[in-house]
Amino acid sequence: MAEHRQARVLANLSDESRGALLALELEGHPDLVLKGGRYIIVHTGLENAEGKIVKRAYSLFAVKPGTQKFFLAAAPVAAGVASHYLGSLQEGDRLTFTGPWGRFHWPAEAREKKVVAAAFGSGITGILGYLASVPADCAVDLYWYKDEQGLLPAAMVRECLSEAHAMHERSLSDDPLRDLQNAGPEQRFVAAGEGHRIERCLNFLRAKGLIEDQLQSEIFYRSQDLSDAKADRG
Ligand SMILES: Cc1cc2nc3c(=O)[nH]c(=O)nc-3n(C[C@H](O)[C@H](O)[C@H](O)COP(=O)(O)OP(=O)(O)OC[C@H]3O[C@@H](n4cnc5c(N)ncnc54)[C@H](O)[C@@H]3O)c2cc1C
Repeated sequence: MAEHRQARVLANLSDESRGALLALELEGHPDLVLKGGRYIIVHTGLENAEGKIVKRAYSLFAVKPGTQKFFLAAAPVAAGVASHYLGSLQEGDRLTFTGPWGRFHWPAEAREKKVVAAAFGSGITGILGYLASVPADCAVDLYWYKDEQGLLPAAMVRECLSEAHAMHERSLSDDPLRDLQNAGPEQRFVAAGEGHRIERCLNFLRAKGLIEDQLQSEIFYRSQDLSDAKADRG
């Protein structure tokens, strides 16, 4: 069984976010290397209708190098358990989790000099974590598809990016394929967030000649209102 770890809440910055926004510090485990792009499984301690403890994945982002401090953000989900649990935590509370897990980072063998990143809604957390792993000589275009406010304040997103990274804010209803019209096989594509939108982008890029090794994604959830047919219309 995976080891349970704890992090202490340093601050709950929910008032700066449309959802939950937590600054955390790992307790113990000084040798554990935390990296953006990986995720942890949060154990809420709360039971669902079947009496099982609710556990959910959340991406680490804005990990401060050389420290055990990191941020988590969760979009508010109507009737969701974990997203509201995270929003309720206060300074000094403890968060129990397993991990970190995952391989959503720049692969050692990658040679592209350009990355196009698409963050759909809450996927901005995973994308910020990923972009922290991209080599400094690689150009980055980040497209952030979000509702009006966005899960994170735009200023915080910019702070997590390097100056060489270009950020393009979009509405969630915008068609991401418009931004991918000029994509070509010389670039890498990464995406995080809602699954139907991500898959639509991946299919479009496969048709443009990108191979599987150049396509990386982290699906957070699948919107039930966004059938493939609706996603095809944007
Ligand atoms: C690898 C990974 C990393 C993740 N990282 C993050 C993260 O950093 N931040 C984050 O907010 N979420 C993240 N998620 C999603 C997260 O794990 C939860 O699914 C989400 O917070 C909802 O949990 P809940 O218990 O509140 O609601 P649930 O009871 O799990 O969900 C209720 C319903 O809402 C849908 N749903 C889930 N998320 C959303 C959403 N954002 N918008 C609309 N509908 C949604 C679910 O598909 C489900 O149908 C990640 C998921 C994965 C797999």
